[in-house]
Amino acid sequence: MNGTPKAAPPAAGGEIVTLLVQEGIISPEQLRYAQRVHDKVQSSKTLIDVLQELEYLTREGLTNTLRKKSVNIRIGDFLVELGYLRKSDLVAALALQKESTERKMLGDIFIENGFIEERRLTEVLSFQLGFPVAELEFRKQDRKLFAKAPFQAYRDGLFVPMEIVEGVTMVAFVNPLDQAARQAAERLFGADLQPAIASKKSVLSAIVSAENSAGSSTAVAADEGTVVGIINKLFDDAISQGASDIHIEPLKDRLRVRFRHDGVMMLHQEFPIDIAPQLSSRIKVIAQADIAEKRRHQDGRILFESRAHGFNLDMRVSFFITIFGEKIVLRLLNKKTTIPDVSQIGMAPRMLDQFVSDALDTPSGVMIITGPTGSGKTSTLYGCLGYLNNINTCIVTAEDPVEFVIEGVAQCSINTKIGLTFEETLRHIVRQDPDIIILGEIRDTFTAETAIEAALTGHKVLTTFHTEDSIGALLRLRNMQIEPFLISSTITCVVAQRLLRRVCNDCAQTYVPTPSEYGKLGFSAKDLAGSQFREGRGCKQCRFTGYRGRTAIFELLVMNEAVKEAVMLNKSASEIRKLGIDTASMVTLFEDGLVKAASGLVSVQEVLRDLPRINLPRPLTELKRILGS
Ligand SMILES: [Zn+2]
Repeated sequence: MNGTPKAAPPAAGGEIVTLLVQEGIISPEQLRYAQRVHDKVQSSKTLIDVLQELEYLTREGLTNTLRKKSVNIRIGDFLVELGYLRKSDLVAALALQKESTERKMLGDIFIENGFIEERRLTEVLSFQLGFPVAELEFRKQDRKLFAKAPFQAYRDGLFVPMEIVEGVTMVAFVNPLDQAARQAAERLFGADLQPAIASKKSVLSAIVSAENSAGSSTAVAADEGTVVGIINKLFDDAISQGASDIHIEPLKDRLRVRFRHDGVMMLHQEFPIDIAPQLSSRIKVIAQADIAEKRRHQDGRILFESRAHGFNLDMRVSFFITIFGEKIVLRLLNKKTTIPDVSQIGMAPRMLDQFVSDALDTPSGVMIITGPTGSGKTSTLYGCLGYLNNINTCIVTAEDPVEFVIEGVAQCSINTKIGLTFEETLRHIVRQDPDIIILGEIRDTFTAETAIEAALTGHKVLTTFHTEDSIGALLRLRNMQIEPFLISSTITCVVAQRLLRRVCNDCAQTYVPTPSEYGKLGFSAKDLAGSQFREGRGCKQCRFTGYRGRTAIFELLVMNEAVKEAVMLNKSASEIRKLGIDTASMVTLFEDGLVKAASGLVSVQEVLRDLPRINLPRPLTELKRILGS
């Protein structure tokens, strides 16, 4: 090679590698070679990683170039090129930025959507670009320096001056790569300023405290009307977005409101901290909580009449005292107006058949639905209840609290405040001549014994439990000192479940699992040929998360003779599991999740992250045959 740089094709890669070639840190040949290596290895390594591994580039070479030329690099491309941000996340964030009415910073969008953590972003900027991190919280402000510009200028550019060292002004930026901010600061403090990096929160709070000390507090005094308006709007927003919880959280310098959607927390809105006391007082009034009590945790209930949506929203409220004030969490109880049909809860066809004929249709015995909090147990329970409810059956419930009202069922909401406890209610339930008893949750030996006694006297009992998987529920009962023969003679089935997010249909694209994901699934690409794995790119419909709605993943263990005997003989968990799989058509949570991922309903990532994997899953074709899917 005689090395004529003119003949070199334009450097494919990103802004950083282009810059490295321009600066003569690497040669065009080295770049082309690294490019070929990079294309061949097909790993998640970045081109920069490959250049470093080939020893064409040192960390110092990279850092020095970036530091010298950093102002020309855009933050998004920079993060993608260094492998800290996915390209698809950058595309989604840019689309979001275009859509947002206020001019949002790209960095904020990354952080709000969880594409990168703020701490991480600061770390990358500081480490790669060599910007020192400014600890603004522990610093005395230089009021003279601050006075060089109106506060709004600092707010617009998101930077604050720190101090002058040997004639050079140190300035803390939220994003030191933001050209407009850098230019604005240079106009104020000179072109040779020394940039540092600080979190947005600390920059904003430095501006607020400078303002306060300048005696020009801009605190907004919200009147009562505004507060009522804010709260009603929050409730209506939560309903229309299908949120399950509203979190109103006082932070050091602001009041943050987040919604939980499909199990994931998302920032909704922020308010000045000054309105926090009025907001919390107003919510206490409508929740019938003690308005004078500000130092203890409390709870309450709100029935909100939504004019916008034309229905009454039932919410459970918790007031929790934090160091910055009361954090308020509202759980929306009846956001769904109809109870799910049992055929719609997400069980595969054959599993559903087995569940209905071997569990729901049996006249007595205990049915347990188990899983962690937020795994959709209540929906399954209500689906079963809807199936069992008819004019010839008497159903009585003890729930904490009642979440859906079902016509024709005697539902009791536990209320410990007035002494209406689980124990008290259970003592009275059996005198109500029920055919079917719904026990909200097995929470201790007493409730477990009550369920079993009721089943022994010919009742059908439906209840929920809090264990990892189906076998875990049987073992837990054993640990509660319930006799093995009572467990084996009364339990009819255990359903374990989880909720996984559904891949958004509007932006789904084919996904090829990585070799390491295949490894974790326990299969090779060949074993899973014909699968249609998918991932969401992110679009407006799914708020750029790539997911929309959720679906349940199930493990159904029907207690046949073989399994009952194993329980009676105190066999180990793995022996019971093996019998369940071999003789009772049991499919594990992981297997059910695998089948749903292979059909593109859920993502491979969530299956691997959220489902327990105990045994090696069986081949996909066999699982599909058992499940009928
Ligand atoms: Zn989408």
